[in-house]
Amino acid sequence: MAASACLSQTALPATWETCHCIDVSLEFVRRLLLFLSRQKQLRRWMETSPLAQRLSTRFVAGQTLDQALAVGRKINSEGITLTLDHLGESVSTLEEAAAARDVYLRTLSAIHDSGVQGNVSLKLTQFGLDFSTDQCRANAEQLVQRAVELESFVRVDMESSEYTDRTLDLVRDLHQRYGRVGVVIQSYLYRSKADIEDLCARRIRVRLCKGAYLEPAGVAFQSKADVDRNYVELMKILLDRGEYPAIATHDENMIRETEAYAALRKMPRDTFEFQMLYGIRRDLQRRLVADGYRLRLYVPFGRAWYPYYMRRLAERPANVFFILRNLFRQ
Ligand SMILES: Cc1cc2nc3c(=O)[nH]c(=O)nc-3n(C[C@H](O)[C@H](O)[C@H](O)COP(=O)(O)OP(=O)(O)OC[C@H]3O[C@@H](n4cnc5c(N)ncnc54)[C@H](O)[C@@H]3O)c2cc1C
Repeated sequence: MAASACLSQTALPATWETCHCIDVSLEFVRRLLLFLSRQKQLRRWMETSPLAQRLSTRFVAGQTLDQALAVGRKINSEGITLTLDHLGESVSTLEEAAAARDVYLRTLSAIHDSGVQGNVSLKLTQFGLDFSTDQCRANAEQLVQRAVELESFVRVDMESSEYTDRTLDLVRDLHQRYGRVGVVIQSYLYRSKADIEDLCARRIRVRLCKGAYLEPAGVAFQSKADVDRNYVELMKILLDRGEYPAIATHDENMIRETEAYAALRKMPRDTFEFQMLYGIRRDLQRRLVADGYRLRLYVPFGRAWYPYYMRRLAERPANVFFILRNLFRQ
C-alpha cells in the first residue's frame, strides 16, 4: 500500500514526494501495529515469551504491584505524581472482571498505605462491560466507594468509540452518587466538544487526550491537524470551565498552547495538571516539573501488557526501531 502510494506521486517535486512517501509509510505502519494489537494469538505468544517480556519494560513499570509501587516512589521523588493502571483490557468472563476489580481494590489500598502520591486508572472492559453493564457498574462502584473511604480518586479511561456512551453514562451516575471519579475525552472524536461541555457542567474531572484507537471517518477526525486543532479548542474549554483538568499529551505544541492559555487566563499552576505516559518524553517531563507545573504519569503494570504496548508503538512507529536496536544490544 505504501509503495503504490509513493509510485503514484511521480509528477511531484522530489522533496514533497519524499515527505509524502514517509507520511504514507508511517501511516501504514501505524495501522499495521494497531491491527496487530488486536491479534489474540500474537498477544498470547508475546505475553508469555521471556524475550518479548524484556521489550515491555520500555513502557511498563513491572509485572507486580510491588514493582509498580517502587517505580511510584521513584517518580514521586522527582516531584511527579502517578496514576496506576493494572493492564488487562477486554476480559473474557465476569470472574476475570471481578478478579480485576479486586486487584484495583488492593492497588488503591496499597497506594494509601505506602504513602505513594497517586491514584488509579481503569478500563471498563476490564471490569466486564462486554458481558454485563450492571456487573461492570457494580465493580466500578466498589472501587469508587473505596476511593471515597481513602480520599483518593478513580479515573475511567476511554476506550474505542463503541464504548463512549456507556462509559460516560456510568461515570456520570457514579459521580452523582459519590464524586471522586473522572473520565477521559478524546479530541479525535467529533462528539467530544458536546461531551466536555456536559462534563464541565456536572463538575466531573476530565483528562483530555488525542485518542489511541483506530476510528472511522464517520466518528473521528482522520488528520493530525484536525485532531490537534480540536485538542486546543477543548483544552481551552477545560481550562475555562473544567474541574481540575488533566492535559494529557507529549505533543510540545499542545503543551505550549496550554501554557500560553493558562498564562493568558492567569491560572495558578495548581489548578490543572499535565499528564504523560511512563517512559515517554522524559526530557519534557523534567522541563514541566522544573517550570513549576503539576505532572502526573500514567504508570501501567501487570502481565497483560501487549495491547497497551502496541498502541504506544503505533503512536510513534520510530519506537519499533529504537526497541529492536536495544533488544540486540548487549
Ligand atoms: C496520561 C495519558 C492517558 C491517556 N489515556 C488515554 C485514554 O484513556 N484513551 C485513549 O484513547 N488514549 C489515551 N491516551 C493516549 C493518547 O490518546 C495518545 O494516543 C497519546 O498520548 C499520543 O498522543 P500525543 O498527545 O502524545 O500526541 P502525538 O501527536 O501522537 O505525538 C506528539 C509527539 O509526542 C511524542 N510521542 C507521542 N507518543 C509517543 C510514544 N508512544 N513514544 C515516543 N514519543 C511519543 C513524539 O515526540 C510525538 O511527535 C493517554 C495518554 C496519556 C498521556
